[in-house]
Amino acid sequence: MELGAARGPGQTGDHLAGVPVNAVIDTSERNKTIEELRRALDEHQFMLHYQPKVNSRDGRIVGVEALIRWNHPHRGVIYPAHFIPLLEECGLIIAVGSWVLKQAATDYRSWMHQGITPPRIAVNVSPQQLRHKDFIAELEGALRINNVGHAGLDIEITESVLMADLEDCIEKLASIRELGVRVAIDDFGTGYSSLRYLARLPVDTLKVDQSFISMVTESPNDLAIVSGIIVLAHGLNLDVVAEGVETAEQHKFLRLLRCDQMQGYLFSKPIAKAMMEQILKSGANITAQAHVASDSQSNRTISEPEFCERRLAAQETWSPK
Ligand code: C2E
Ligand code: CA
Ligand code: CA
Repeated sequence: MELGAARGPGQTGDHLAGVPVNAVIDTSERNKTIEELRRALDEHQFMLHYQPKVNSRDGRIVGVEALIRWNHPHRGVIYPAHFIPLLEECGLIIAVGSWVLKQAATDYRSWMHQGITPPRIAVNVSPQQLRHKDFIAELEGALRINNVGHAGLDIEITESVLMADLEDCIEKLASIRELGVRVAIDDFGTGYSSLRYLARLPVDTLKVDQSFISMVTESPNDLAIVSGIIVLAHGLNLDVVAEGVETAEQHKFLRLLRCDQMQGYLFSKPIAKAMMEQILKSGANITAQAHVASDSQSNRTISEPEFCERRLAAQETWSPK
C-alpha cells in the first residue's frame, strides 16, 4: 500500500489514531504479503532450485541442496531472504516446509525413474519445523514417496537452533538419523556451539559458514578458524562442507586443508530442476564448468537465470573429465 493511501480524510502528519503510520503501513503490507504467500502455496508459485555439492578432490557431485524460490506472478523470482522470515513469523513455514520436503522427494523419485542415480537432496529445515510435533512423521511420509528402500533426503539445520534446544534436539536428531536421513549443521561457526555438546549431537556433517570461506585466502584469522573447524570435524568423525566457494584460490586452500566437499558459485549457482537433470544425466564432473559462474571480462557475478543460459550454451562443448 502507498504511504498516501494509508491516510484517511482529516489525517495529517505521521500518526493515525495514535499509531505511527509506518506501523499501520507495515501491518497492512505484511498482511497483504502473508495473503500472497498463502496463495503462492495453493497456486504452486514456489519452486525448488538445486545447488550441487562437489567432492573436493575430483569435482564429482555428491549431493544437492534444495533452495526455495517464489515465482511471483508480478514481481518475478523472489529469493528466500525476502519471505522466509515472514513465513516463520506467521507460521506458514510449517506448510511451506512440508511442501519443500514432498517436492524434493518427488524430484528425487523422478530422477530415479529417468535412470539417473540421483545424489542425495539436502533440505533446509526451519527451527519451527524441527520443533513441530509432526516433523518426524512428515519426514517419514516424504521418504515413502521414494519407495526405494533408502532415504535420498538429508536435512540442514542452523547451528544456533541446535544449541538453543540441545537436549530436545539430541533425541529428535537421533530418530531422524534412524530413518537413514543425514543431518548437517548449517552456517557452522556463527552459532556459538559448545564443543562438548557438539560431540554429543547426532549429526553427520558441518557446513562451514560462507563468511569464513570468503576471507579464507586473505585473513590469517579466518584461515585458522576454517582449518580448526576441519580438524575438529574430522576428529569427531564428521564430514565438512565449505559453503560459498567462489574462487579457484579458495578451492585450492580448502583442498589443502582437506575439506571434504564444497559448494558455491565456483561450481554452480542454484539451478532449476531441469538443468540439474541435464548435468546429472551427463554424469559429468562439475569443476569443468567453473568459468561459467562469473564474467571473466568484467569480473562481475552473474544472475541465476543468466548462469542457466550460459550453462546451456556451454553444455555442447563440455566434456566430462
Ligand atoms: P543457506 O542454507 O545457508 O543457503 C546458502 C545460500 O547461499 C543460498 O542462498 C545460496 O544460493 C547462496 N550461495 C550458494 N553459493 C554461494 C556463493 O558462492 N556465494 C554467495 N554469495 N552465495 C552463495 P538462498 O538460496 O538465497 O537462500 C538463503 C537462505 O534461505 C538459505 O541459506 C536458507 O537458510 C534459507 N532457505 C532456502 N531454502 C529454504 C527452504 O526450503 N526452507 C527453509 N526453512 N529455509 C530455506
Ligand atoms: Ca543450507
Ligand atoms: Ca548456510
